[in-house]
Amino acid sequence: MKLLEERIRKDGVVKEGNILKVDSFLNHQMDIDLFNAMGEEFRRLFEGRPINKILTIEASGIGIAVIVAQHFHVPVVFAKKAQSVNLDGEMYTTKIESFTHKRTYDVIVSKKFLSKEDHILVIDDFLANGCAVNGLIDLIQSAGATIEGVGIAVEKGFQTGGKLLRDKGIRVESLAIIESMDAATGEIVFRDQG
Ligand code: 5GP
Repeated sequence: MKLLEERIRKDGVVKEGNILKVDSFLNHQMDIDLFNAMGEEFRRLFEGRPINKILTIEASGIGIAVIVAQHFHVPVVFAKKAQSVNLDGEMYTTKIESFTHKRTYDVIVSKKFLSKEDHILVIDDFLANGCAVNGLIDLIQSAGATIEGVGIAVEKGFQTGGKLLRDKGIRVESLAIIESMDAATGEIVFRDQG
């Protein structure tokens, strides 16, 4: 998606350790007009899929997911990072290793909000090694729900997450895929998606 690529070039900052900072428009301050255009694009890409719910993870997936959901007219559920898991049987739980924070979280979704009737679109801001998305898929599978696809704002194509998911037959649509980036020069190369 050209609009997102241009914005990353203009305002994204490449940090050491393969981190792209996009906090001026994507995951701290949020550009809602950009999110709206992203929602329109996801709607077009997933046209015809019987999506009845969007699943994301707190915190930075929520803003994007909420605006995207306005284009699908479906509710958003976000997986919560829990301090301690209360094993009362009312939650689906999984563990997710955080790429940016280098720690592991227990993540939960109430069984009330995910069921085998659901057809889920997963939305997140970044796809790197795929830990976050794989955790969400684990929750969806625990509920017996159907994964209709995964919609990502920025995929770092030089990390393994996207390939692993696509190899499993999961449809992944990323609006910008970064092939390489260089913290020293600030150069960012995007994959040509046609
Ligand atoms: P993964 O679980 O795919 O390894 O990493 C995805 C998660 O880590 C995303 O939810 C995102 O919050 C965070 N993340 C991964 N790479 C980056 C990055 O380059 N920049 C930022 N801002 N967040 C990232």
